[in-house]
Amino acid sequence: MSFQALLTRETENGYQTALEERELTDLGEEGVLVRVHWSSLNYKDALSATGNKGVTRQFPHTPGIDAVGVVEETTDGPFSVGDTVICTGYDLGMNTDGGYSQYIRVPAEWLVPLPEGLAPRDAMVLGTAGLTAALCVESLLDTGLNPDQGPVLVTGATGGVGSITVAILSKLGFSVTAVSGKSESHPWLKSLGASEVISRDSFLENAGKPMLKEQWAGAVDCAGGDMLTTALKSLKYGGCAACCGLAASPKLEMTVLPFILRGVNLLGVDSVELPCEIKQQMWQLLADEWMPVDLPLLEADEVELQGVNAWVDKILQGGVQGRVVVRLP
Ligand code: NDP
Repeated sequence: MSFQALLTRETENGYQTALEERELTDLGEEGVLVRVHWSSLNYKDALSATGNKGVTRQFPHTPGIDAVGVVEETTDGPFSVGDTVICTGYDLGMNTDGGYSQYIRVPAEWLVPLPEGLAPRDAMVLGTAGLTAALCVESLLDTGLNPDQGPVLVTGATGGVGSITVAILSKLGFSVTAVSGKSESHPWLKSLGASEVISRDSFLENAGKPMLKEQWAGAVDCAGGDMLTTALKSLKYGGCAACCGLAASPKLEMTVLPFILRGVNLLGVDSVELPCEIKQQMWQLLADEWMPVDLPLLEADEVELQGVNAWVDKILQGGVQGRVVVRLP
């Protein structure tokens, strides 16, 4: 049986991604066969679609680290034919053919049941970005952080992870300071719940100094590099920063002073290899108490497979506001 999927191929003119017909046998025979209805666009998908070997070693390859759909065939595990399931992370869209395809075939351990009350499309509006945002917030809450301790900083705030983090923190009663490189998006960030929005340039004004004025009770950083070091240098005494991204840089160049003079902490967040039970708990929170309902966030941009390429370029340039969902035919 044939189906449609995007396939990234290495060509003489670089990596090119196009819609192709594939056969179910191309996906192998092991694991659960899922008919995908929605996927989403993440920064990592753009890296895979443009040949980044740190994400995808072998081409041709179908990107898409997120998928939601219905089980069509299963031989073992807890799922039955007809169940609606979410798959995010693990090897999906990296070296296992991903969600920009009408079908995926994955191990049962990679799947989470779609929580009750969460529409499949909304699950992909959240996607890996929402899961990561939830994990960042959870890691700060685990340290005992509460709204009385002061504002929480979010960098890369208009991106997928950043914007959902702003929405969740604000829903939990935190005062949120969002940092963004997009001046035109400041009103949008306020509508998501940011109390204050500062420009990336002004945030980085004193990035070269070893220590900065204490300002934030906590921080969620999606950017790495100077953005993360500036956040760490301006945390209040004992504050924590959750670090999940490298949109600016994978580097971390600073002194140990904020750690040893102010007792600040750096919390690493990974949404990919995390045990499935924790993913399931986070999805339940996202579907329930943390769901950013009635927010412009859910007005995500929607594309079909043919439209993905244009958004790949845009997300690599840091130009996407909020989330992009991909509708499968
Ligand atoms: P997006 O591209 O949607 O968001 C990234 C945002 O970062 C941009 O919108 C922009 O926001 C900001 N940004 C871009 N370039 C720069 C720059 N040079 N300097 C400072 N800020 C910049 O990506 P996602 O939200 O999907 O992912 C964010 C990061 O988190 C990525 O690096 C991604 O790889 C990582 N990630 C990690 C996960 C994990 O498990 N650890 C899971 C998911 C994502 P603005 O214009 O508002 O400043």
